[in-house]
Formats: sequence, structure tokens, C-alpha cells
Amino acid sequence: MPEVLDRPHVSKRTAPPRPHAVPRSCILIFLVAAASVSSVVHAADDLLTLSIPARVHLLQSEKDPALHTTLTEDDVKRVLNKVNSIVWSQAKVHIELESIRKTTAINDTNVTKDATYKWVVASAPKDSLLKNGLNIFYVKDLTDNGFYNNATGLIFVKDTAKLMEVPGGIDEPLPRVTSHEIGHALGLQHRQDLTNLMASKKSGYLLNAEEIGIARKTALEKFSLAK
Ligand SMILES: [Zn+2]
Repeated sequence: MPEVLDRPHVSKRTAPPRPHAVPRSCILIFLVAAASVSSVVHAADDLLTLSIPARVHLLQSEKDPALHTTLTEDDVKRVLNKVNSIVWSQAKVHIELESIRKTTAINDTNVTKDATYKWVVASAPKDSLLKNGLNIFYVKDLTDNGFYNNATGLIFVKDTAKLMEVPGGIDEPLPRVTSHEIGHALGLQHRQDLTNLMASKKSGYLLNAEEIGIARKTALEKFSLAK
């Protein structure tokens, strides 16, 4: 980056005295640091946007209040807008809303309601699912705010989710929980820094460079996205 080191020529005759001049080495360190930040920004700018189709299911159940969301289509649109504009724009990943559906839960009384959430996964009708895309189910009440089921690729989020607020965090839980579960669907593991997306039960949403790389690679492999 030789151009960074070029500075305007200042004649020794006309230069004002600099009694508190910063040492030249400090200036160079600053300029080199600024140049590397700017090259990272340019690299991110060059990434192509990856669009992943998503079907949002507002799960409905007359028999099980825990599975019956009361979210509206407007709620979903607001939430997905924040998922995209605040969180996943960092990775140039765009969640493309294919449709919002009221999906009636399968009520199987033989499935035990335990912490494995098999009973929740089993409530999703297979013929309602979007192929080659994300399926995001909103429900009413789970022990956790949400989960990603690796075996089926389904995402479940409870509409009563609550988070611990952290500095710079998002202003409501649902976009953060939805984005976090999308992170799992895109191959990300938990990382317990305070203000990042993959920290558990917190309102932060930052992604680091490694996570952006993993998420984009997984998106390309998993959803056969055209480049
Ligand atoms: Zn998680």
C-alpha cells in the first residue's frame, strides 16, 4: 500500500514549527491501520448478495396453546425487515420472504413433551414445507426462545421470546432470535462474546469475519444459490 505513505510535500522553509509533533512512527502506524480497515470494507463491498428463500409459518393449534402463535403478517414483515437490514446485511445474506402462511399444527398426543422438542418438530406438517429454502415457524411458548432442528432443517421461534439487553443490541427480541437460529441453519456455532449474534439469550447481533465466511459458504452449498 505505498500510496498510503505518500504525504503532501511540505517545504521545510514554510512548515510551521511543531512543538508537540506526533512521532513519525505513530503517524505511519495510524495510516497503515486506516488502510487495512479500508481494504476490509472494500472486500465486503465486493461480495455478492446471497438470497435465501424463506417460508414463514404462523403455527396454529386449537388444542395446544404453546404451539399457537398470535403474530400477524405485519409483525413478520417488521421482524424480517430487521433480520435483513440490521443483522444479515453484515454478511450480504438476504432472507427472501417466499410467503407467510397460517399452518395448522399436527396434534400428536403420542409424542412426549420433553426438552428434545421432538413434539414441536412433529407438529410441522411435511407437506407445508418450502423445498430448497428456510422454513421458519413461529409458536407461542417453549422453554427456550427458539431452536434449529438439524435433522429437518426447521427453525422454531417463540413469539414471547425475551433477551438480556447488551450495549448496541437490537431493539426487540424476535428479529434477534430469528437471526440467531438462521445463523445455526447457516452452520454457525455459539460464541459467548457479549454483543455478538451467536451469544445465547442476548440482544447483540454482530458477526465476525470467520462467521460471515462460514455462513456464506453454507448458504451457497445448502441452498444451491446461483452466483
Ligand atoms: Zn443457539
